Amino acid sequence: MAYMVEIKDITRRYGNINALDKINLSIMKGEIFTIIGPNGSGKTTALRIMAGIDRPTSGEVYFDGVKVDEGNMSKIRTKSTMVFQKTALFNTTVYKNIAYGLKLRGFSKKEIEEKVKDGLKIVSLEDYENRWAKKLSGGEQQRVSLARALVLNTELLLLDEPTANLDPMNVSIIEETISWVNRERKTTVVMATHNMFQAENLTNRAALLLEGKIREIGTTQEIFKDPSEYFISFARTENVFSGISKILKEGTSVINVGDGVLIEAVPKKSGKIRLFVRSEDIVLSRNPIISSARNTFNGRIVGISDLKSLVKLKVNVGKEFVVQVTKRSFTEMQLNVGTEVYITFKASSVHVI
Ligand code: ATP
Repeated sequence: MAYMVEIKDITRRYGNINALDKINLSIMKGEIFTIIGPNGSGKTTALRIMAGIDRPTSGEVYFDGVKVDEGNMSKIRTKSTMVFQKTALFNTTVYKNIAYGLKLRGFSKKEIEEKVKDGLKIVSLEDYENRWAKKLSGGEQQRVSLARALVLNTELLLLDEPTANLDPMNVSIIEETISWVNRERKTTVVMATHNMFQAENLTNRAALLLEGKIREIGTTQEIFKDPSEYFISFARTENVFSGISKILKEGTSVINVGDGVLIEAVPKKSGKIRLFVRSEDIVLSRNPIISSARNTFNGRIVGISDLKSLVKLKVNVGKEFVVQVTKRSFTEMQLNVGTEVYITFKASSVHVI
């Protein structure tokens, strides 16, 4: 098996905190691997060590079969690129931001021009060259950061929460870009996320990191099919329901999750099952909408929490669902606790576990 990066028995201590506690991870060449975990579980620390930006307190790191040490660390650092959670773009144009790393690597002006154009095309920001980077929206800035990493075309791409706090459109562009770069360029990708749905969507293998320890590792299919207690307690955060499923004549299933809520799903399964729906996949409206989506429920907003560019709403439709809307939609739709709303999602957005 050819490994891009392996970390063996890594511990990273900060004072008396073990940010990582004897972890082992082997990332295969050409795969997309996700490290799933809540805030503070050690995801960023693990990525920084893989990128050669940080050194472990104890343990060993191998990059492409070579043991990383002080002597070869700076060389190995050029073979990977890390996109940080908090975008730090330079206060200049988008072009100069993306061109910077290429200039350092000695590309000609013409090559830089071509690569910047390509990079912007990949993240769907054509014609943004002359825009001022820091004036862009959070999602666009994150896409510029991704383009800045992609133009370097390194063997390993490390992404720290690439879609945290972004709206669904930016999330889907970034997710598509990650799939594309892995599929077309065969770039190995390691992504940290607290969003397990993203892990399921994008990747073949994942590890669950809790308080610096790896609690579960395997293919996403294995993890989601037969989730461990650790995974269930971590996943229980949003839109996870248990119910009894029946196969319908139409070839889908309907799951009775109680309190009058019947959810239609694509997987054909009968009997007791557990399901979840990503909050990003739920459309919120003030009136019922006519669409192809199979699931529409009427209820009231019972809770509101304000994230930076997004607002998270709890909607009670018999069961409580968590739904995300952009701050702009929240204001324009004049939403508040008690507002009557409809939630709509497709049968294909229902994940059966
Ligand atoms: P988040 O999603 O919030 O970024 P994370 O899973 O990426 O979290 P880390 O940033 O790796 O977690 O942090 C793991 C632990 O190590 C936390 O307790 C954090 O406070 C601590 N830590 C990380 N970096 C440092 C540092 N430079 N100095 C001291 N403590 C640190």
